[in-house]
Amino acid sequence: MSVWAIVVAAGSGSRFGGPKQYERLGDRRVLDWSVAAARSVCKGVVLVVAGERVGEAEPDVDAVVAGGATRSASVRAGLAAVPADAEVILVHDAARPLAPTALWRAVVDAVEAGNDAVVPAVPVTDTIRRQSGGTVDRSDLLAVQTPQGFRADVLRRAHASEGEGTDDASLAEAAGCVVTVVDGEPTNLKITTTDDLAMAEARLR
Ligand code: C5P
Repeated sequence: MSVWAIVVAAGSGSRFGGPKQYERLGDRRVLDWSVAAARSVCKGVVLVVAGERVGEAEPDVDAVVAGGATRSASVRAGLAAVPADAEVILVHDAARPLAPTALWRAVVDAVEAGNDAVVPAVPVTDTIRRQSGGTVDRSDLLAVQTPQGFRADVLRRAHASEGEGTDDASLAEAAGCVVTVVDGEPTNLKITTTDDLAMAEARLR
């Protein structure tokens, strides 16, 4: 099947103190790891960056487009650049540079096997407490990662109403699709703080 990826890298990194996706990690930038992993399993890659960065050279991608004010708006901007004949679309946060190729492959395989929407997720190991009080039963909780994979028409439908969410599977579910979970990778950390970047460096070494 024709598989495309949208890598979203248009965030401002307010919790990090700057756009973390442009920090160095090993011998390249954080976002280069994400693009390379996408490239290894996808026919095409659309990179979504902040408007002022459109025009900067980005090797190894098929299109670079300007993102929006929210993650969901950035995904929609990327989606507009994915060719109409794409059959499977993966969406990935550039801030997850260590997602292994095997995880990308597993997500693609699960969509190609007939699932509409596929997310990698790992069990929650911390005890979770509500700010308003009370502890949540963690046996029912999963921490969801990217890349998330979709039949192309499912992802387009999920975004048709211009909804907002912290991921794409939640929008697909709201649009009536069934979301299938595959095993995520505990090492697929999301870089949010400078400590996360140090941890990713340690993991690479
Ligand atoms: O803010 P958060 O860490 O949840 O962002 C997840 C991913 O979405 C990051 O890779 C970030 O660059 C991207 N993003 C985006 N456009 C936005 C906000 C976030 O592409 N407006």
